[in-house]
Amino acid sequence: MPPTTRVTSFDLDHTAVRAPYVREAGRYVGALGDVVTKYDLRLTQPNVQEIPTAPLHTIEHLLAGYLRDHLAPATLVDASPMGCRTGFYLTLLGEPGAEDVLHAAERALASVRDHEGEIPGCSPERCGNWRDHSLPGAKAWAGDVLAQGFIVQETIELPTSG
Ligand SMILES: [Zn+2]
Repeated sequence: MPPTTRVTSFDLDHTAVRAPYVREAGRYVGALGDVVTKYDLRLTQPNVQEIPTAPLHTIEHLLAGYLRDHLAPATLVDASPMGCRTGFYLTLLGEPGAEDVLHAAERALASVRDHEGEIPGCSPERCGNWRDHSLPGAKAWAGDVLAQGFIVQETIELPTSG
């Protein structure tokens, strides 16, 4: 039996977006009124280009710290790579606006582009695939993405079927 829960990200028309972008992807209110906001941080154009696993993995390790630095005082709960390797899912506590997330993402990626020294957490004790990293690749991809200019992407839904 297929899942019964409808996943709204599958309703985004991935052919109608223009990367790189930040898009508010969901908002959840808990029983005590706390708000969790999800954003897509899309780095490459869907179905046109994807980031190889080694640079994407290194970008993940670097964004974990740099995004938290640049989003403060908003709290980043999680930044996880999309399985399609075109960007990251951001989960935030609170309701930061899209422009704030966009500027934080730009500053964080500039920090990735300019990063020197070790990759944080890159060891067999701290990472699940520590050999699969590329700092030169991460820096180059961050620079290329930044050069294309981030936008705030509105959600363009596919027509619903049924
Ligand atoms: Zn890792």
